[in-house]
Amino acid sequence: MNTITLTDCQALDAADPLLELRLLYDLPAGTIYLDGNSLGVMPRTAPARVAEAVTAEWGRDLIQSWNKAGWFALPQKVGDKIARLIGAAPGEVVATDSTSVNLFKVLSAALNIAALDAPGRKVVLSERSNFPTDLYIAEALCKERGYTLRLMDNDGSQPKVLAELAPDVAVLMLTHVNYRTGAMHNMAAITAAAHAAGSLTVWDLAHSAGAVPVDLNGSAADFAVGCGYKYLNGGPGAPAFVWANARHVDRFWQPLSGWWGHAAPFEFTPDYRPAAGIARYQCGTQPILSLKALECGVDTLLAAEPLGGMAALRTKSLALTDLFIALVEQRCAGHGLGLVTPRDHEARGSQVCLSRTDAAGATVGTGAYAIVQALIARGVVGDFRAGDTRHPDILRFGFTPMYLGYEDVWHAADHLLQVLQTAEWQQPRFNQKHAVT
Ligand SMILES: *Cc1c(COP(=O)(O)O)cnc(C)c1O
Repeated sequence: MNTITLTDCQALDAADPLLELRLLYDLPAGTIYLDGNSLGVMPRTAPARVAEAVTAEWGRDLIQSWNKAGWFALPQKVGDKIARLIGAAPGEVVATDSTSVNLFKVLSAALNIAALDAPGRKVVLSERSNFPTDLYIAEALCKERGYTLRLMDNDGSQPKVLAELAPDVAVLMLTHVNYRTGAMHNMAAITAAAHAAGSLTVWDLAHSAGAVPVDLNGSAADFAVGCGYKYLNGGPGAPAFVWANARHVDRFWQPLSGWWGHAAPFEFTPDYRPAAGIARYQCGTQPILSLKALECGVDTLLAAEPLGGMAALRTKSLALTDLFIALVEQRCAGHGLGLVTPRDHEARGSQVCLSRTDAAGATVGTGAYAIVQALIARGVVGDFRAGDTRHPDILRFGFTPMYLGYEDVWHAADHLLQVLQTAEWQQPRFNQKHAVT
């Protein structure tokens, strides 16, 4: 491969029609932000819209704002906008609660459906490498209901998943893009195989929504949840979202049957009657101020629709991650870095993860945290994910095509080279652990 230069990267930016989308965000000066997969950046519109909701809607109009400002319908209004990013139809998505809570609701509904349609199946199948909260929620629910949570030792390898679809699997619960490795599953193929094997699917889109094209209806998936504060840029603690396939949504209540999921909450009847459709997946009063911020974030992604939407963003995301991989391999060779994220486009989300390796290419456990800290001190913000017995410590870099350019990628790799070349990362100040990594 030809040696890539800074000038090449600048030329790519000059030819990129999506680059203007970064103007939708308030990006901190001097920062190359590669952590949009953990907390997305702030949309420019968010401060004023949230301030208006506080001062005019809450401060002046008070209780009338539930109707007048559309507060009551906001979870579904924002849900309809998210639906456009994930291959869902209007009325199929609601923005509410956290990913963890929503997972509890859909997994519970999926188990109820499986108990009717495929009785006797007592296993929820997932991956040991899944995000821990997903496993914790599934573990508790399985325990409560007499199911077994079975974990595959797997990192997004599709044949392995298909091989594990045993006749006792009620629900296959997967995260589409692995938070740690960036490996992406083929949702359509796995869902089809799960259905052929008699299992339902629950998909977590935390690292997919706003990052890669998702086609829930086209994949005939059963249930999905996803995160509002990552690639949707909804702000810290933003509401998550939940989707249920139309063929399932009205068959069961979800177990957190609060009054906001009632068919007529203001009739104040003593008995529960679930609302039709996805509205029943709400529980209690919704966090309106956070929903306002989330709507700003989702609007930034919808602003890409005239420029080709998620398909165009995906093309750019792959170009950015390809470029970063190439730059690391060309410029940082010999400095003990190995690629963890799949090279294959079909199997890669919107992030690149690196591990530390020794001279023979074997993974070693040292330095990942400190290298990330040294990069952050230089304004290149990625993050570190701790290893377990099977996975190495990881340097994780999220590439959000909405606001990153090719020159940013150049500089990120260049800082990485400097941190390694000068052994800057070995300074004690970069080796002190903080509470949130
Ligand atoms: C980020 C993330 C979550 C977050 O869950 P919260 O309930 O919002 O804290 C859940 N699952 C996955 C796969 C994630 O990446």
